[in-house]
Amino acid sequence: MTAMRIAVIGQGYVGVTGAVALAQGGHQVTGVEQDAQRLAALREGRAPVFEPGLQEELSLALATGRLRFARSVSPVHAEEPFDVVMVAVGTPPGPDGSADLSQVTAAVQQVTALVPAPLLVLKSTVPPGTSEMLLRGSPGLRDRYAYNPEFLNQGSALEDWLAPSRVVVGVADRRNLPLLRQIHGHTGCPWVVTTPTSAEMVKYASNAFLATKISFANEIARLCAGPEFHVDQIMQGVGSDPRIGHAFLQPGLGFGDSCLPKDTAALANWAAARGIRLPLLHAVREVNEGQPGMVAETLRRELGTALSRARIAVLGVRYEPWSDDLRAAPSRTVIPGLMTEVAEVRVWDPEVDAETVTRLFPGAVPSPDLPSATDGAHAVVILTEWPEIIEADWASLTPRLEAPRLIIDGKNCLYPGILQSLPLLYRSTGNRFPL
Ligand code: NAD
Repeated sequence: MTAMRIAVIGQGYVGVTGAVALAQGGHQVTGVEQDAQRLAALREGRAPVFEPGLQEELSLALATGRLRFARSVSPVHAEEPFDVVMVAVGTPPGPDGSADLSQVTAAVQQVTALVPAPLLVLKSTVPPGTSEMLLRGSPGLRDRYAYNPEFLNQGSALEDWLAPSRVVVGVADRRNLPLLRQIHGHTGCPWVVTTPTSAEMVKYASNAFLATKISFANEIARLCAGPEFHVDQIMQGVGSDPRIGHAFLQPGLGFGDSCLPKDTAALANWAAARGIRLPLLHAVREVNEGQPGMVAETLRRELGTALSRARIAVLGVRYEPWSDDLRAAPSRTVIPGLMTEVAEVRVWDPEVDAETVTRLFPGAVPSPDLPSATDGAHAVVILTEWPEIIEADWASLTPRLEAPRLIIDGKNCLYPGILQSLPLLYRSTGNRFPL
């Protein structure tokens, strides 16, 4: 492999893992970040986001001397030009759900001003047609441009960078392919080489399909509320078909990462702007939006008029243990909703401190540990499948709850076998206590 000089603009989940992985792969890498706090953390060798293994790999990459960080790309390029500049900035949802491309256009402008011109590789998720729009606005960019969407999963971001399931590249000029192969090294996975617009659609279609699997599992789970069903075994049986697969077939509160909600909204918006109806995607989003409401519905049904006097313990703020991305976590809607209906909401998450709980959920009571959250609570709501929650001593915790001792398992994660003999009311998405 020939080592290259690569800049990665944007050091969020995608950019920082990419910068670390590329440096580990032997390239000379500069991570570019405009946020002063994020940049300061990176320069001190601290990972600005949580990803399993990222802190260790970041320290190792820094020790090789192949990774450094900068506020801006141009001064470093002026010293010694980059071969490749990747753009991995955010594309957050705008008020109407469309992708806000302002970070992308600003970063691309910075790259097109560089002399000599590097290969620009856009990694951010953008609506189909965005690359063509950028190329039209910048004559000369076409022969040194690639759209290369990122498919990493938060929680396994580094592994996914190093061993992707596939590489999709959209190029207008195929002469850039050898350089793109050098960036990725010997992945051994399939390569799909296509137009930039098709590559953009691959990313949106992939996320729409994953979202569909989650909403499908939730819809089937709703059918399986009766005692004759065992929803875990049903999903096991369905997912064991290799044409279907187990991934993303977990019933619960719906998708909670920051990508599926925003990318399905952006795709729906993109289609609407073209007068194209997407009934399937709309149904997927509608099912998903209804899932967090299951917590309040269950509380109202089981607590009745006692609801307004109830103390509720919410266990978990993250949407999954292995990601600290709280941008679209179900807790962000579930907790404020509960606070309008009950007397007290206590919140505990082993990795979210009291200050963050108070900032995100003003009026909620941060609890220092799991027993302080649950002692004297009328209901427990589980929002994260933390091992500390799954493996807690529920036999000791249960008698210290107040009647009706309701447990709403938003992640279907507790072991039903352990709970079955305890004097509590257990509610999940679909029945997990078969007759
Ligand atoms: P993020 O919001 O966490 O990080 C973006 C970073 O870019 C921020 O730190 C911001 O300060 C920085 N930035 C913006 N403009 C800049 C500029 N001109 N110069 C320097 N820094 C700049 O975003 P993310 O979650 O890493 O996602 C990045 C893109 O990748 C998005 O389009 C997203 O949809 C896509 N994506 C994300 C994931 C994921 O799991 N997070 C997975 C696949 C694809």
